[in-house]
Parts: sequence; C-alpha cells; structure tokens
Amino acid sequence: MVERNDRELLRASSNAGEGWASWRYHIEFSISTLEQLREWIDVTPSEEDAIRTCEGKYRWRITPYYASLMDRSDENCPIRKQAVPSTLEFKECLGSHVDPVGDIDNRKTARIIHKYPDRVAMLVSDRCPVYCRHCTRKYHTMDFSGTYYENNKYGGFERDIAYLHSHSEVRDVLLTGGDPLILSDSAIDRILTAIRRIKHIEIIRIGSRCPVVLPQRVTPELCAVLERYHPLFFVTQFNHPSEITSWAAEACEMLLKHGIPVLNQSVLLKGINDSLITMKTLVTRLVSIRVLPYYLYHCDNAVGVSHFVTNIQEGRAIIDGLVGYTTGFAVPKYVVTTKLGKIPLSRDYTSCNAASLTLTNYEGKEITIQAPDHD
Ligand SMILES: *Cc1c(COP(=O)(O)O)cnc(C)c1O
Ligand code: SF4
Repeated sequence: MVERNDRELLRASSNAGEGWASWRYHIEFSISTLEQLREWIDVTPSEEDAIRTCEGKYRWRITPYYASLMDRSDENCPIRKQAVPSTLEFKECLGSHVDPVGDIDNRKTARIIHKYPDRVAMLVSDRCPVYCRHCTRKYHTMDFSGTYYENNKYGGFERDIAYLHSHSEVRDVLLTGGDPLILSDSAIDRILTAIRRIKHIEIIRIGSRCPVVLPQRVTPELCAVLERYHPLFFVTQFNHPSEITSWAAEACEMLLKHGIPVLNQSVLLKGINDSLITMKTLVTRLVSIRVLPYYLYHCDNAVGVSHFVTNIQEGRAIIDGLVGYTTGFAVPKYVVTTKLGKIPLSRDYTSCNAASLTLTNYEGKEITIQAPDHD
C-alpha cells in the first residue's frame, strides 16, 4: 500500500536508480499485508491474529530491506520482534500510559515539544518506513485521523518556526517524529533553511531510524542538503548487532564523510537485546563503524509497549558489564525518560563524606581518596 505521503515522497525524488539499492523500491514495496509478509517469514497464528487486531489501532509496515534481516522460521528473531505486531500489544497493562514521557504536556505548538531549558524536539512527521513495535510515541504514529497536527500536516510550519524565533533560549533543535527522512529532500531542505535563519539556534540534530530500517534513504543528494546546515548531528537507533549490515555501515559512512557525527540511541528491549553479550557486541560493532553509543533508554511503559520493558537491575547489570571492560566511549548513558526529563539510571560508584571519597572500580574493588587539606 502506497500512502499519500509516500506518493509525494516518490514524486519529489530525483533518485534515478530502481531496485534494491534504491529507497524508492523499499517504500513502494513496503510490506503491510499478511500476504506480503508471508513472502518473507512463516507467519505464526499468533502474529496473524496480532496483524488483524492492529487494523485501525496501530500502524505497521516493514521495508523489504528490514524484512530481509528477519529469520524466516524463528518467531523470536530480534528483528522480527521489533517489526512484526504481537498480540501482547493489545494486553492491558497496569501503569502503562499513552504518553509516559510527557510529550503532550510539554507541547507548545503542533510540532514543538519544549521540555528542557535550551533545546526542543520538533515532530516533523508522523510516518516511518518501519513502525517499531516498541515505539514510545505510539500515540503519535497511530493517529490515523491526522489530528496531531491539527489537520494541517502538509503545511503550517509557520507557528512552529515562529515559536523558535520568539524563544531565544533555544539553541538546539532536534528534528524527530515519526521519521524526518520520510520527508522529501526538498521538504527537509525547507525546514532546515527556516531553522538556520534563526540566529540563536546553534546546533541541529536529526533523529532517524533510516540507517537501520532503510539505509538506502541516505543518499549523496540527501547528504548534500544536510551538510549545508552544520553543525548538524545525526542520531539513529540500532538495537541489535544483526542490524549492522554493510548497507547500514555504508549509510553511516556517507553521513560521516559529509562531516555529520552519527550517534546511537538504543532501547533496552526484553527478549531482543537485554543481555550483556548482545549489548557488548552491539556497542563494539557500532564504534567500529564510527557510530558513537549515546543513550541506552530504559523502555518506557507506554500503552502497547509494556511487554518490552525490563527491570532496571537488568539494565544496570549490562552497563556494569561494559564500564571498564570496553572502550569508554562505547558505553552509552543508561537513562529513563519521564515527564520530568531523562534521568540517569547507572549505579553510584561513589560514597563520600567531607574528608574522603570511597570509590568502587568496575571489578568491585574499593579505594579511598582523601580530599586535600586546605587549612
Ligand atoms: C531527549 C529529548 C531531547 C534531547 O535531550 P538530550 O539529553 O540533549 O539528548 C530534547 N527534547 C525532548 C523532548 C527530548 O525527549
Ligand atoms: S522510527 Fe522512531 S518514531 Fe518511528 S516507529 Fe520507530 S521508534 Fe517510533
């Protein structure tokens, strides 16, 4: 099914190459019916049930590229679990919330979420090439009636841009969504031009999962647009080592060659990447392709996502197994996002009193260092 947005994207593109190497192919032939999915995997009765229940409730679709990474017969395949609907999404769960991170409370215009003093997130799209089953903004990407943007999603950036103009404390703008790269190069160009006209905006970030689910979308043409707006950073979301393919590596490499730092934000997901060996492989492979692990998010208890939530002790054990044991900059910051912002969850390695500081190293050995005597 080619959605209206996609048709616009396809028309607007000057990407000549067709076939697997072209992102157009993966949008045009994206998988959104049971029949299409059966070409890639042996759909289980439970998955079939979930797909039927999804209708009119949650969006789902998968690019042929991402589907090609799925295991045909293993329903516990980590790629499959991130992309194929599960019946667990419809199970009511105590304590879950449609918006656990408080986006809606901090929403200042249709697109701007201003939660921290000097930076904002701008939700420029409600579409994604693949709808992650664990998406914390499920409320946003399941708004079928388009009311999120006040029925004005194809235009009307004026109020959002005006907000940025009038808030001189904002020096950092994060374009997110949905996936911003679902917009055409020229639409992205227009948004970036409008933001760069604002003198107090120092840095721009783009949050997109395309390097993982549609790496073909990172083209020389796109990079030529992005590099005109430096300092610009790219933040993506690899959750499992098997997502680091040569296609993904090439997409990151292209961004890097255009001077765009690439950072990664993983989500800790039960049954997908909640083990030390998986996480260690992920972060070390990421640094080998020069992508820096930035955050490890504790999975939010969002409605439809609760079955992916681990407990905090498990997350801490993973971080404890990385700190000191591997490259310092390969270790992400473990945080949980709340209505009050992101809060660090890594354990305390220190205990102190006025005169001294007792420290525990990564192996659990203790050392005490004395404060200087200034008398
Ligand atoms: C995560 C987030 C940011 C960016 O936070 P950093 O810690 O600077 O990466 C900004 N705005 C919102 C609403 C966010 O959720
Ligand atoms: S790409 Fe991001 S916004 Fe889109 S479904 Fe995945 S996590 Fe959600």
